[in-house]
Amino acid sequence: MSYVDEVIERVVKENPSQPEFHQAVKEVLNSLRPVVDANEEKFRKDALLERIVNPERQIIFRVPWVDDKGQVQVNTGYRIQFNSAIGPYKGGIRLHPSVNLGIIKFLGFEQVFKNSLTGLPIGGGKGGSDFDPKGKSDREVMAFCQSFITELFKYIGADTDVPAGDIGTGAREIGFMYGQYKRIRGLYEGVLTGKGLSYGGSLARKEATGYGLLYITQEMLKCHGQDLKGKTVIVSGAGNVAIYAIEKATQLGAKVVTCSDSNGWVYDPDGIDLAALKEIKEVKRARLTEYRNYRPNAEYHEGRGVWTVKADVALPCATQNELHLEDAKALVANGVQVVAEGANMPTTQEATDYLQANGVFFLPGKAANAGGVATSALEMSQNSERLSWTFEEVDAKLQGIMVNLYHNIDNASKKYGFEDNFVVGANIAGFEKVVDAMNAQGIV
Ligand code: NDP
Repeated sequence: MSYVDEVIERVVKENPSQPEFHQAVKEVLNSLRPVVDANEEKFRKDALLERIVNPERQIIFRVPWVDDKGQVQVNTGYRIQFNSAIGPYKGGIRLHPSVNLGIIKFLGFEQVFKNSLTGLPIGGGKGGSDFDPKGKSDREVMAFCQSFITELFKYIGADTDVPAGDIGTGAREIGFMYGQYKRIRGLYEGVLTGKGLSYGGSLARKEATGYGLLYITQEMLKCHGQDLKGKTVIVSGAGNVAIYAIEKATQLGAKVVTCSDSNGWVYDPDGIDLAALKEIKEVKRARLTEYRNYRPNAEYHEGRGVWTVKADVALPCATQNELHLEDAKALVANGVQVVAEGANMPTTQEATDYLQANGVFFLPGKAANAGGVATSALEMSQNSERLSWTFEEVDAKLQGIMVNLYHNIDNASKKYGFEDNFVVGANIAGFEKVVDAMNAQGIV
């Protein structure tokens, strides 16, 4: 049995009931075969892949808090410190009822390669809890965040592990977590990113993941003699990533006609009204059913359906495994040219294979959504030097990072004979840097 197959088999056996983690490991290791096969003897002797797929540290803890009725609630908190070969652990905190160990491990594993691809000195980690901020009062969210940090503070710090936002963790939650960390540690340090601008946050961090997604998509199109201008775009999600992907796509001259949340989706043939969307999601924290109050000509549908709309470019920006094989078939039948992942692993393996086999340019999340973590690393730099850069400075650096990242993955795919297969390119380029650092640091 090949070394890759052996390690995949062990991961499945040793991590039962973690399907998302298995999926991420299989996707990465299968695409690394050209590199692993060429170094099989050395990698096997060094147990390199076993060290890559096993997190350095896994922290699981109880998070008790009191709700508005005086009832004590108990959630589970997680922090997976996956790999610190190239820098302090870095990765978001997800607050969503679906969170479990396997989901946080899949996200942490992906984060290792993504962070490597940014070219910045950040290792990979991820955290979260099965707490659902939706429908909670601000006081309840604060009570949860304070309890969460009261345990997590022991394991994080500006030079050890720097968490950030993710699904369910926005500026409000980061603010509560930062306040509690500062209170306990008595340290005013850059321990979290995604902070508010008045206390160490970076301009353009909020926009970074969505903007970065469009910068890399535009660069890829440019290198293939095309442009986003005039293209029709469909987006899923209506959160941080989706909103700023819609904003940048519109600025670049495309027309975005859909968005969605976990209840339903909107089709607006005239192009999504961004001001209305921000008001609904960022100010009122309401549901997309409200969109028609602003745009009576738009359609609102319950359930799923974004991928049935005809478009040139599809940007899944909600959550993992939201674009299935039948969706990929509908996209191809409608002539889609590009699928670029704003979310982490939103496309199933079967759907990815189908899209690639049918000539669709597919940009995987670990490359396409890396603008968020890259800008988080820029926030860390600003905190360290006690300076704040302008929006334009940060945005220009973000753009440069995404353009370099594209060429990095494009070159890696060509080097191994997989031109335009950006899944292979991203995994190999991300892996090579981490492996180089791990080899240099010995068996640790
Ligand atoms: P938000 O919480 O801001 O938004 C998530 C959006 O996706 C919401 O519209 C939400 O709808 C929808 N959604 C979440 N879960 C589901 C589900 N199970 N089914 C259908 N819709 C769902 O999160 P972000 O925008 O920050 O994150 C979106 C994705 O991007 C995630 O995969 C995240 O890991 C990834 N990502 C985020 C980065 C960032 O900087 N924020 C960086 C890199 C990746 P509802 O409100 O109804 O739940």
